[in-house]
Amino acid sequence: MSKVVDAWVKVQDMPVGFHGEAGRSVDFKTGDWRSSKPVLDREKCIYCGFCYIYCPDGVYEDMGPKEKYYKADLDYCKGCGVCANECPKKCIAMTLEEV
Ligand code: SF4
Ligand code: SF4
Repeated sequence: MSKVVDAWVKVQDMPVGFHGEAGRSVDFKTGDWRSSKPVLDREKCIYCGFCYIYCPDGVYEDMGPKEKYYKADLDYCKGCGVCANECPKKCIAMTLEEV
């Protein structure tokens, strides 16, 4: 059976079946290892919310009915491209990060 232990434990000290507490990723800026980022073309966006719904990390914020778009928090976006793939208007472009 798996066991919940402190997420700060060293890898070599982790027991077999280790998993950390849920929700811990909010403590870290998990987007800092991303190789590409989503860039939105707001002219084409129809504010359908698919990007918001499908993002596996829940990083999209609804900017509201006045602004009518969803904004990705790049501090936490991992660059997986799911949002760009699911967007029915193809208005999200995955763009390589500068190094
Ligand atoms: S999925 Fe595409 S069209 Fe829909 S809100 Fe997101 S960016 Fe806009
Ligand atoms: S690239 Fe992936 S993690 Fe980043 S906003 Fe899109 S779906 Fe979310």
